[in-house]
Amino acid sequence: MEFADKVVIITGAAGGIGKETARLFAKQGAKLALVDLDQSALESVASELELEDYLAIGADVSNENQVMNFVQATKEKYGRIDIFFNNAGIIGKLARMTEITAENFDKVINVNLKGVFYGLKHVLKVMQEQKSGSIVNTSSGLGLHGGVGQAAYSATKHGIIGLTKTAALESAGLGVRVNAICPSAVYTPMINIIEEFRSPERTEKHREQAEQRIPLKRYAKPQEVAELVLFLSSDKASFITGSEYKIDGGSRA
Ligand code: NAD
Repeated sequence: MEFADKVVIITGAAGGIGKETARLFAKQGAKLALVDLDQSALESVASELELEDYLAIGADVSNENQVMNFVQATKEKYGRIDIFFNNAGIIGKLARMTEITAENFDKVINVNLKGVFYGLKHVLKVMQEQKSGSIVNTSSGLGLHGGVGQAAYSATKHGIIGLTKTAALESAGLGVRVNAICPSAVYTPMINIIEEFRSPERTEKHREQAEQRIPLKRYAKPQEVAELVLFLSSDKASFITGSEYKIDGGSRA
């Protein structure tokens, strides 16, 4: 098993992409620390995945103390952190730039940008000291281009690429690799919010039209994104750091 006894922290582990990534890592023998807002949702994930040796930690990634706590709890239980999937994120309330409130803007910045930063800051300390580790941050296609109604989200996802490249440079030579993934539309609860903004009536026809605009003619499955995360986390990607990977069915938005 490729990840036998590897210690993996996943944030947003109760969500679509996080859960599928947990599933694939678990199949490959990893020990998981699952992090999300609601601990009971994580216990349901652990039970669905039939995990035996795991941590389920309810934490808000926008709170630095809570991030420090889950990093420390993982280190205390398993003695090390091999892989970190820094994935929790929100899309926030979609609105055009002239309409978005400072409060809504800050909310997205706090979770997506500060949350990813806190995770990097505290996990890097552990990994740089142990002189090994791999981190994958979840950016987005919207980290590479803009999107109507998604100013805050797009700004945070661009910011995650900056954090990724800086963390990779600061970790080079210390055995730690840091990369970002940039998915476009993925079948998870988050996609409903985008569809609703684009067409409030949200019919099956609207979804079909949206999917037809993608060269591969469909949204991604969470598992397809998870496969990329496992590749970047593995030794097969030993010469890859500071890179961002599009996974978008050929979209050129
Ligand atoms: P999702 O909503 O299913 O999962 C996100 C998870 O993050 C949820 O379980 C949620 O509870 C958790 N979360 C939210 N705020 C948190 C906080 N403050 N602290 C801890 N956990 C928190 O959506 P998803 O599609 O699985 O999203 C995962 C990541 O992928 C996100 O960063 C998202 O921006 C990114 N992404 C998603 C898509 C898509 O189309 N679904 C596309 C590109 C990027």
